[in-house]
Amino acid sequence: MSDTAVYLDHAASAPLRPEAREAMLPFLDGRFGNPSSIHRFGREARAALEDARARLARVIGAAPAEIVFTRAGTEADNLAVLGRARESKGAPVAVSAIEHKAVLASGHAARDEGSPLILLPVDGNGVVRLDGVDAALEAGPAVVSVMWANNEMGVLEPVAEVGARCRAAGVAFHSDAVQALGKVPVRVDEAAVDLLALSAHKVGGPKGVGALYVRRGTRLHPLLFGGGQERGMRPGTEDVAGAAGFAAAAEAAEAERETAMARIAALRDWLEAGLREAVPGLVVNGAGAPRLPTISNVSVPGADPEALLMGLDLEGIAVSSGSACSSGAVEPSHVLTAMGIPPELAGPSIRFSLGWTTSDVDIARALEVFPRVAARVR
Ligand code: PLP
Repeated sequence: MSDTAVYLDHAASAPLRPEAREAMLPFLDGRFGNPSSIHRFGREARAALEDARARLARVIGAAPAEIVFTRAGTEADNLAVLGRARESKGAPVAVSAIEHKAVLASGHAARDEGSPLILLPVDGNGVVRLDGVDAALEAGPAVVSVMWANNEMGVLEPVAEVGARCRAAGVAFHSDAVQALGKVPVRVDEAAVDLLALSAHKVGGPKGVGALYVRRGTRLHPLLFGGGQERGMRPGTEDVAGAAGFAAAAEAAEAERETAMARIAALRDWLEAGLREAVPGLVVNGAGAPRLPTISNVSVPGADPEALLMGLDLEGIAVSSGSACSSGAVEPSHVLTAMGIPPELAGPSIRFSLGWTTSDVDIARALEVFPRVAARVR
């Protein structure tokens, strides 16, 4: 077992940024008030919560009142898709075939409640087909959901084009920007999104904290019932420390985005070039489309995916197969399958994901270890 740990699984969860930790500490300690209380403890917590809301809103070009804090990205996606379906009572729901399970399973739940589910097809690189979006819009859906960037491949989706089409048709457009925030510009005004899901732990904030951007005028049925917090859209006492950590992490990621992403793109290119050279037959999935600089998804034909992951872990390299959020299953990923990638390639696929702590030492070590382990498990 190697004691050199190389973490190349930032898309599963990124290490906490020091800025986020600093921002959270006061609210884990002395400033414990409930933001809904009217006394000074409550007012102090309320001020911190509203400050976090305003700062997060600024990062994505929204108004503070359009940010609803949620319990993780999953809940934000559920609220967007199911909240729209319940609001529209029976209208179809259209989601792309390569969405994260947080969106896909919300689509299935909506279908079980009587909203027909339309799966939007993608091309061979995992990019949603605009003719499919046009066809779906003719059915008058309650919501169209197309993610900003895919979590398995890093492929960027044509959100501006989809948003423009939805806007013209008067249909609400939801985008899951959980993986995109801090890596590419995510501005709600530029993509005409009405709903946008975010998650703190993917940008170096705490786990279990998310947000849904809800454009003014977009009606949503809440999924939880209780006090009137978050304008009734997400009742429950807010996680003040979590919101403060989320805003600090998002700001830090955004402030360094251009320089950090140029550095990480170079590391990713080096990794892919090295792997292609050293591992015969290796395929980089989604490479024909614009991608996030942080994700590289490779298939090693003939390799046993589980043995590959375990072998890498034994050598201290942490990566994931398919989507980390649904790991445990070794079935080919639904994303690669939707792209038309055959099971013999989709099965043995590995996702490397780089982030703010990734260094050239990490990539050099991955390039040293991966070809050896891949050869062993073929
Ligand atoms: N959406 C995407 C694209 C993701 O990658 C993830 C997590 O991997 C989620 C949603 C869920 O976010 P959370 O872990 O905050 O529930």
